[in-house]
Amino acid sequence: MDNFLTSIGLNRFSEFRNNENWLKEKLECSQSKIIITNNFNPLINDDEIPKAVLLSFEEIKKISLEFSRMSFLGELKGENYFIADVSDLNKSYIEKITSLGSFMDFRRIMNSLSPDEASLLAYTRALTYWQSRNKFCGKCGSRTKLMDAGHKIICTSDDCRSELFPKIDPAVIVLVSAGEKCLLARQKKWPEWQYSTIAGFVEPGESLELAVKREVNEETGIDVEEIIYHSSQPWPFPAALMLGFHAKAVNLEIQPRDNELEHVRWFTRKEIIESLENKTLRFPPSISISFKLIEQWFNQSESGNLKAIIDKFL
Ligand SMILES: [Zn+2]
Repeated sequence: MDNFLTSIGLNRFSEFRNNENWLKEKLECSQSKIIITNNFNPLINDDEIPKAVLLSFEEIKKISLEFSRMSFLGELKGENYFIADVSDLNKSYIEKITSLGSFMDFRRIMNSLSPDEASLLAYTRALTYWQSRNKFCGKCGSRTKLMDAGHKIICTSDDCRSELFPKIDPAVIVLVSAGEKCLLARQKKWPEWQYSTIAGFVEPGESLELAVKREVNEETGIDVEEIIYHSSQPWPFPAALMLGFHAKAVNLEIQPRDNELEHVRWFTRKEIIESLENKTLRFPPSISISFKLIEQWFNQSESGNLKAIIDKFL
């Protein structure tokens, strides 16, 4: 399944990332598009419908835009995407750039972007966050430098030369069902009436299946079986990869063992429809893997199409 934020159709050309002449040619040609970021926030136009400000190499030269770090994302539909990171430049310079738009939190605007643009900015956020958190070597403390068009970091100390590659944090997200019922929960910080699937990070030494079993049991007291993989979604806040599963409940009694959730409960399909109508239930955005998991389970019966039901009661 092609989930939102996955870079479908992007050719990353990872084999050319260490080829400076090849990269220079890609950057300086008329098909290059440069995303500007400041502290992992992309530069977005000030129009009503948000869109990333994408500069050509000519425009970068014209406004003599400097940048502290440049990275290559890949080629999508004939355009070469690069990131120019201005985070380390002085304030007055950054103010000058903001005449082109505003640096905005990607999470706040992602739902309004096209799938292609959202996936490029998700990739941008994850990569620039990782770069910003590894300016010094974790082994010897020396300064590091970026290599391979922003995809590798090496320690500058000749005695160390440690290498680092972008880190991803796997997290499982699971829709637990028992016949006509599914298990949903809410966290205190979420908008009122919002419920979602159970999720948590995979721990060292653990398989994905064991992480599903452990997280569901810790947060709800339910044991699960028949764990089936659904799909995945990058979630760059800051570096998660959400791995979606369906699972069947073995027992029904809810007895949370930790305090991570404010409320856990079973919903039948009928209760979901009634609660949506009474406005006492809302789901995460339809672009999220949690919604996709709920939707797939819900639509398996004759109760109707979940998206159509939500639209009807909006
Ligand atoms: Zn080092």
